[in-house]
Amino acid sequence: MPASKVSQVPSQQHRLSQQKASPTRSSPWQILIRLALLLCIVSAISKVSLPPSDLTQWLGVSSPNVLILTAHPDDECMFFAPVILALAAQGIPVRALSLSTGNSSGLGDIRRTELFKSYSVLGVEPQLVQSLETEQLQDGMDRYWEPVHIAEALRQYPNISNINTIITFDANGITQHPNHIPLAAGVRALSQSSHPIRLVLLETVPKHIKFTGPLYPLGLKTIHLLSQIPFSAGNWNVGMGKGSTLTITSTVEGYKLALEAMMRHKSQLVWFRWLYVGASKYMWSNTLVLAESV
Ligand SMILES: [Zn+2]
Repeated sequence: MPASKVSQVPSQQHRLSQQKASPTRSSPWQILIRLALLLCIVSAISKVSLPPSDLTQWLGVSSPNVLILTAHPDDECMFFAPVILALAAQGIPVRALSLSTGNSSGLGDIRRTELFKSYSVLGVEPQLVQSLETEQLQDGMDRYWEPVHIAEALRQYPNISNINTIITFDANGITQHPNHIPLAAGVRALSQSSHPIRLVLLETVPKHIKFTGPLYPLGLKTIHLLSQIPFSAGNWNVGMGKGSTLTITSTVEGYKLALEAMMRHKSQLVWFRWLYVGASKYMWSNTLVLAESV
C-alpha cells in the first residue's frame, strides 16, 4: 500500500545510514587505547634532547658578559627565563637591569624585592640585579619611553663598561607594551659607548604560536627527530640555530624554575597570569636574533 511504502522508505534509509556510520564509531576501549598510544608518543618525544647550543660561540663574543635588559619586574621570568637559565648553565656571567620598578600601581618597592627573588631562582644573585625608578622611565601602558632616556640610563649603569652583550625585547616587545618596544632602540642610541656591545633581541612570535605552551618544544623535538631520518624530504632542521637566530628550549625542570620564579612575584599573581604561565611558549622557549653591534 502506498501509505506503508511511504513509511518504510525513510526507515530503510535510516538503517542504511546507520550501517554506513557504524564502522567509523569507536568503542570506549578503542578511544582509551588511542589516547594511551598518543601519550606514549608524546612522552617519548618529550624525552628527546635537542642539540645543545654553545651560546658563547653563537654570540661571537670571546668572553660574554651579558646584561638582561627588561622594562618591569616579572619580564625576566615571563619572557626571558629559557635564555637566562641557559646562560647560567653555561657559566656565562649575567647581570640584570629592569628599567622600572613597575610602580604603576604604587607597588614599586614590593616589586623590586620580588625581582631579586625571581632572579635568584633563575640563577642570578641579587647583587647582580638592579631596577631603576626614574621620572622618564615610569611604568605604564600610556608611557612611551624615549630611546634617548633609555640610553642615558644605560650610560649611568655602573657596570656598563663590563657588559659586551645586551639581550632585550625586539621592536614588537612580545606584548606590544609601550615600555618594552623602545628598549632595543635605546640600546642602539648608546652608540657613543666606549666599547662595542652585541645586541641580541628576543623574537616576538604571532599570537597563534605564542600560546602553544609545552606544544612548542614538543613540535621542535618532533622536527629534530624528523631531521634525523635519512633521506627525509625537505629541510626539517629549522628554528634551532640558523645563523643569526637561535632557539633555546627549556626542559621540564627549566619550565618549573620559570614557574617558581613567577611565584616570587606574588603581587602580580592575578588570574590571567596563571593562564599565561600555563599557555605561553616563552615559559619554555626563546628565539634570539643576533642584531648589530652598537
Ligand atoms: Zn613588562
